[in-house]
Amino acid sequence: MKGSVTDLAQERWGVTLGGEFPARFAEPGWSHEGTVDRRCPACGGELHALRRPYESQGRTYQYTALVCPVCPTAFTLSDLGVQRYDQLTEAVPLAACPDGPGVTVTAIVRVPAQPGPGVRASRPRGRAAAVDV
Ligand SMILES: [Zn+2]
Repeated sequence: MKGSVTDLAQERWGVTLGGEFPARFAEPGWSHEGTVDRRCPACGGELHALRRPYESQGRTYQYTALVCPVCPTAFTLSDLGVQRYDQLTEAVPLAACPDGPGVTVTAIVRVPAQPGPGVRASRPRGRAAAVDV
């Protein structure tokens, strides 16, 4: 169908999309939006967003299709683990630290101060200041 996700992929990249995707991807009315900050989960290539407005209960929404011209296939937002298109254009949040608490412990370990006249001289002064307060 002209103006469908599959048609745009054919026209733009000369590819025929494979894989399974929702029926709305075969409907007309889509337009190319640009690349997004996410990579194709299958091949790591650039993903292009295609969008199509639709109305529901008096409000206008947009369907989003993410096309990987390399695979070639199309994904939905939920295929990429997000609910909204905005989440694809935001910076990817840092993943939780994969290391255990051991890393934190190492970070707070201090290198012991080198014993010397400077260190010894400053100690009594520091203690006196604390008492004054
Ligand atoms: Zn791909």
